Amino acid sequence: MSTDYDVVVIGAGIVGAAIARELGGCRLSVALLEARDDVGDGTSKANTAILHTGFDAKPGTLESRLVRRGYALLSEYAAATGIPVERTGAILVAWDDEQLDTLPTLKAQAEANSYQHCELVDAATVYARIPKLGPGAVGGLTVPDESIICTWTVNLALATDAVNRGVTLHRGCTVESVDIGDDSTTLHTSTGPISARWVINAAGLGADVIDGHFGFARFSVTPRRGELIVYDKLARPLVDTIVLPVPTARGKGVLVSPTIYGNVMLGPTSEDLADRTATSTSRDGLQSLLDKGARLMPWLLDEEITATYAGLRAAIDRGDYLIDADQAQRYLVVGGIRSTGLTAGMAIAEHVLGLLAAAGLDAEPRTELPDPPRMPNLGEAFLRPYQDAQAIDADPAYGRIVCFCERVTEGELRDACRSVIPPAGLDGLRRRTRVMNGRCQGFFCGAEVQHLFEALR
Ligand SMILES: Cc1cc2nc3c(=O)[nH]c(=O)nc-3n(C[C@H](O)[C@H](O)[C@H](O)COP(=O)(O)OP(=O)(O)OC[C@H]3O[C@@H](n4cnc5c(N)ncnc54)[C@H](O)[C@@H]3O)c2cc1C
Repeated sequence: MSTDYDVVVIGAGIVGAAIARELGGCRLSVALLEARDDVGDGTSKANTAILHTGFDAKPGTLESRLVRRGYALLSEYAAATGIPVERTGAILVAWDDEQLDTLPTLKAQAEANSYQHCELVDAATVYARIPKLGPGAVGGLTVPDESIICTWTVNLALATDAVNRGVTLHRGCTVESVDIGDDSTTLHTSTGPISARWVINAAGLGADVIDGHFGFARFSVTPRRGELIVYDKLARPLVDTIVLPVPTARGKGVLVSPTIYGNVMLGPTSEDLADRTATSTSRDGLQSLLDKGARLMPWLLDEEITATYAGLRAAIDRGDYLIDADQAQRYLVVGGIRSTGLTAGMAIAEHVLGLLAAAGLDAEPRTELPDPPRMPNLGEAFLRPYQDAQAIDADPAYGRIVCFCERVTEGELRDACRSVIPPAGLDGLRRRTRVMNGRCQGFFCGAEVQHLFEALR
């Protein structure tokens, strides 16, 4: 039987898309399989969207190394593709003497992670940088290179680049079972069998299930829900840097951050669940955020809320990423990419390619590659089509605003529908354009957007 592909990657979140893109740079036939009808519709669409320096990672771990490398790779890639990034910096705030005593340890930890730019600052400096911070802060640690980014554009850029490099994207294609042969593996999917020499498991919350199909029982995923509140754009003047808590064993804690779309965000919570589909927000979760927000930045609570959302971290019972190649079965797992995968995705892909080559995959680089895609800008701090007189002169559709809250034009909706990976529905259109994401949440423009979407697709 002939094999369909040299390599199949399961999961088109940031990690799978980055791996597919990396493999697409080699002389290999590659497929990217995604259960949902769009790329980036899992955890990668609902996170805090911070490009981490990795200052607080556990030194010596694979995660620490790949987050640091990922920061560099994604920063460079964002500049090449137009993914919006703002280097807002962060301040980690201590609220009592115990937390204050922890800050020098965190600074030393940052240095052990090769991040040398943290500085200890006193309370006066903290308030000079964040005048609207609630009373009671006793000191802080600056992290000048933490940045905010558009997670949706990252995922879409990587997947688009992969497709431009010749990767075949199968959407709506769930891997249900696996037959491992001598030379190739057949994946039985919801759309029929697909065979490949090598299989990469980047299935996020479903990675342990796929791992089980290959005969392993080495980890199980616990969905760790993070709920967030997004405040209106009128709140944006309250804060222009990321305000971090002192991290605990359970994670990075609740932060206040500007968003790349010009809003302010409060969150995330951290709650272990059993249900891997539980992405709704909860009364208790949102209340706990409001309680924490009242201390962090009381003025924020007077602002209007635009939206709430939740994402599920794929937590596993070990303190590091699990990335492992099984040469005998020509299978590689990428598991436990819990709370740093947006940042580390491109470095994970680079690492995976190295492991595959060491395990015998002939991954000879292709000599001629297409340029990286130029992505539409969704960042509030950068020129958008409705502001661009030249673009409007050349194409009046960029002057016709459809979504007035987010100022999204007909030209952008059309471009998204005609792009390399067009949206399958209105949610995908939101992530590609910001349409219906504003304070009215589509109340005013929803019907027109739906009408245009149906006419354009
Ligand atoms: C609340 C929260 C805040 C976070 N904040 C940050 C942050 O600020 N910075 C940062 O760097 N990271 C952050 N993260 C982490 C980051 O979002 C994740 O690490 C990253 O998105 C994981 O990407 P992924 O591709 O592994 O998973 P996913 O995006 O979930 O992709 C996996 C894909 O596999 C598909 N799939 C699963 N099973 C199958 C199957 N059987 N067949 C076919 N397809 C399948 C799924 O549909 C899904 O699309 C945060 C996460 C959360 C939840």
